[in-house]
Amino acid sequence: MTIINILLDSTTILIFLGIGYLFTFILISAYWHDVIKALPVRTFFLAKCIQSCSWFLVVLRGEIPDFLTISAANSLMFIGASLESIAYLRLRNEWSRGFKWMYRLLIPLSIAGFHLVMLIHNQENLRIAYCSLALPVILAPLYRLTKGPSLLMKVIGYIYLFVIAANLIRGATALLTDVSASFYTPGIYQLVYLVTIYILTILSIMGFLLLWKEKSSQELLHYASYDDLTGTLNRRTFTAKAKPLLASCARKKEAVSYLLFDIDSFKGINDTYGHHTGDLVLKDITKRFKRQLGEDDLFVRYGGDEFGILLSGKNELESTELAERIKTTLETASSSLPVPYTISIGVLTLVPDQLTHMESIYTRCDQALYTAKRNGRNRIYRSQIS
Ligand code: GH3
Ligand code: MG
Repeated sequence: MTIINILLDSTTILIFLGIGYLFTFILISAYWHDVIKALPVRTFFLAKCIQSCSWFLVVLRGEIPDFLTISAANSLMFIGASLESIAYLRLRNEWSRGFKWMYRLLIPLSIAGFHLVMLIHNQENLRIAYCSLALPVILAPLYRLTKGPSLLMKVIGYIYLFVIAANLIRGATALLTDVSASFYTPGIYQLVYLVTIYILTILSIMGFLLLWKEKSSQELLHYASYDDLTGTLNRRTFTAKAKPLLASCARKKEAVSYLLFDIDSFKGINDTYGHHTGDLVLKDITKRFKRQLGEDDLFVRYGGDEFGILLSGKNELESTELAERIKTTLETASSSLPVPYTISIGVLTLVPDQLTHMESIYTRCDQALYTAKRNGRNRIYRSQIS
């Protein structure tokens, strides 16, 4: 405890945190000049600015009237913490009407409640208890980060859980014991409080920006991997994913089937009903196929109206059945389309070996598709392995 008392001077630490925060902010602002326009990042930085003002006021305690520092610092802290939660909710696309209302009420209520405590029973431990118990309510939605899809998000979620737990303990101590939980009294509570502040400033800035970067990278990867209109894989990603799938089926000596299909007389649909209807047809065919596919199957749009599907573990009978099923469902036009349409399909089934390449499978299927077109369209042709 003595060591803690010697090493930690709360005012010095707050000043250094402020300086560290300021420089982090300058650097990041310069680097993220464009990104800063994004709403979640803007909300987060506003939260941090407000929080740093709040801590600045805490440092000034004794220099300016107490009522001002206590009232303003805590009000700013409630607003800053709320904005921090909102920033994460925005980042995760969870900023719903329910949360909007929650924070619309929570911010004024937490501030009003604090001033009520000040008016009725202005005692330090009571104020600390109020703040330490209100803060976990404001930060509560952040527990959802622990269930996030990435390890980074989970770790950040647990850091916030620590902040919430530390506040709950501090609040309970201030409320139920005579021990001083004051920020200005050296001891274990001061240590916990300083660590919490440190996490809320430096670590949360790094964590948030890393999460934002992770999200942006995932979005970029998605745009680079999928076809915009139909949501199917693009050619490059399909080829990359097909390689290990073929290798795995080769190892297991399992069959794969490949379906290459093209919409019949699609140009005519575009010319007669317009490009928009053509787009709807492309989406409709994609939707119909997707419903029939398993998790391991790969669906690609090569471009225009030509698509391919690599069916993992499907034999000749199963792939023919799938192709027939889709062809039959197309006879009933979708209600969203003014016109029924048909497709021609080339199919190939084989048990791959380590030398089997997607290009050769494609070439053979393309020949089968060509035969289907030449023989009148709206039909399925199977490529025979020579
Ligand atoms: P076939 O039966 O021989 O396949 O005749 P087709 O008219 O369907 O001929 P083809 O497959 O070559 O036509 C492809 C057309 O697809 C040509 C192009 O204008 C159109 N197209 C390409 N990309 C898009 C797109 O994203 N949206 C729409 N609506 N049309 C597209
Ligand atoms: Mg076509």
